[in-house]
Amino acid sequence: MSFTNTVRLGLCLALILASQALSAAGQEKPRLVLQITVDQLRGDLPTRYYERLGEGGFRYLLEKGIVYRNAHHPHANTETIVGHTTLATGTYPSIHGMVGNLWFDRETGQTTYNVEDPDYRLLTAGADVDADAEIDPTQRAAKTEGRSPKAILSSTFSDELRASNGGLSKVVGISVKDRGAISMAGHAGTAYWFSKASGEFVTSNYYLESYPDWVNEWNSQHYPQRYANTHWELMHDRDSYFFGATDDRPWEADIGGFGRVFPHAFGDGGGPYFTTLLTVSPAGDELVLDFATATLVNEQLGKDTITDYLSVSFSATDYVGHLFGPSSLESEDNILRLDRTLAKLLATVDKQVGLENTLIVLSADHGGPDTPGYLNSLGIPAGYVNPEEWDRESAITRIKQQFGVEGKLIETYSHPYVYFSQEVVANPAINAQALEAAAAAEISKFKGVYTAVSSAALRLGNTPDDEIHNAILKNFHPKRSGNIFLVFEPNWFINDMEGLLVASTHGSPWRYDTFVPIIFAGSGLQARVVDREVHTVDIAPTLSTVVGVKQPSGTRGHPLVEVLEAKKE
Ligand SMILES: [Zn+2]
Repeated sequence: MSFTNTVRLGLCLALILASQALSAAGQEKPRLVLQITVDQLRGDLPTRYYERLGEGGFRYLLEKGIVYRNAHHPHANTETIVGHTTLATGTYPSIHGMVGNLWFDRETGQTTYNVEDPDYRLLTAGADVDADAEIDPTQRAAKTEGRSPKAILSSTFSDELRASNGGLSKVVGISVKDRGAISMAGHAGTAYWFSKASGEFVTSNYYLESYPDWVNEWNSQHYPQRYANTHWELMHDRDSYFFGATDDRPWEADIGGFGRVFPHAFGDGGGPYFTTLLTVSPAGDELVLDFATATLVNEQLGKDTITDYLSVSFSATDYVGHLFGPSSLESEDNILRLDRTLAKLLATVDKQVGLENTLIVLSADHGGPDTPGYLNSLGIPAGYVNPEEWDRESAITRIKQQFGVEGKLIETYSHPYVYFSQEVVANPAINAQALEAAAAAEISKFKGVYTAVSSAALRLGNTPDDEIHNAILKNFHPKRSGNIFLVFEPNWFINDMEGLLVASTHGSPWRYDTFVPIIFAGSGLQARVVDREVHTVDIAPTLSTVVGVKQPSGTRGHPLVEVLEAKKE
């Protein structure tokens, strides 16, 4: 038994004897906080398939939990690290600093991947991103293998939980994606994510000097190999699906021989895309489930009266959404299989900890748009934005002449930000504010662009007081945001992910991208449906209040009164 466990045992006995394991409200604290995040789970997707949900998964959460049906992310760049960090910290990217999956770092002069950190290394050799097989262009952009949460500028709920008791609370974050695990585990917890290169769950030496035995044991089973020579097949009779008759759509992506129609073959287990194909199917969530189960058992989470925290971020829904769209046969089967995966996770938590002792919260890091092809087939306007059609050269030439710019004007476009070159930014002779305004006006004319907002206007508070501009403002961090923020028309987006043509891409302030579920359940909460608009920044302060710890440092959200009232009853 470790020192921490010994201390915890002694302390717990004392707490039980004194019956003092109470939160600020005087109620018993949950032994475990289970935060489930489903990547790209738009708010309508669980209920769309309600009749076909099984027992114990979404149906348990929807029927037994406090269900917020009008929950949204408050920021404009609805991307993975932005949403996860907002869920974890209870604040906006303008404060937590994660303004995008990538940003251009003016100090290093390089594009930065959100959780990369050259000061650390992975504990597993050969687990770094394999650039040749990596389909996620933001992962590919990382220049070093090290990972840490150091770029997250405010504390997380999980940080505050550990800070409340000298680190006795155990905090673990798990995901296929490094950013899905690291953001939620915070600065003080431990994060594990799936390396597609090594087929193992890994971490960096920011967190640990060596793996616990149980992690080595889990990895030594080579769990992914169970899927070798198997297929992703439909779980039910094809006729029972909404999208059963429209499996093959021309806008769906076909990567690594996976194909556009069922059954989707994973291959023999030796191909360069084998582990990638697992992650773009429900198998990716099953891997995460199995590792999360091992974590619960081996770390003895929730076994005593000191509250522990487990974050499980499921990524398959995001990859399936990108490749096939959220209204596809693949997405439909994925949600029904995710429902079974959730049921297994909740059954394990019930067995290990008891759902009555566990405060569960489920949400998503962002939603996602339907594919233009699907919407067009129903007569709804939508389309892919193609920057190649824009007459960028003439616009750039006009601006350079007007402002006397000699070298290059644009350093990079990393959605949603356009960054001016270093020489332009550093040149005191150039009126940066006027230059930004002129560039924003030119970009606003391009096909598919709804608006382009300059950072000077945001910094000076010189933007219209409407919801879109307020969402852009909440995304604005003076050191990391670019010179121009781009918003495309509703249902218009770029589908070229650095060479990979995908069916759909999120990242806008429009309703389909901001809309996510928020469901609190377990821990004696009574079922309730809430229809007032709430925001993802409200989750972390709600958890803080229920558990009786201080709110994360940057918190801007408010505790959800329906959850607090239910805890009082
Ligand atoms: Zn995401």
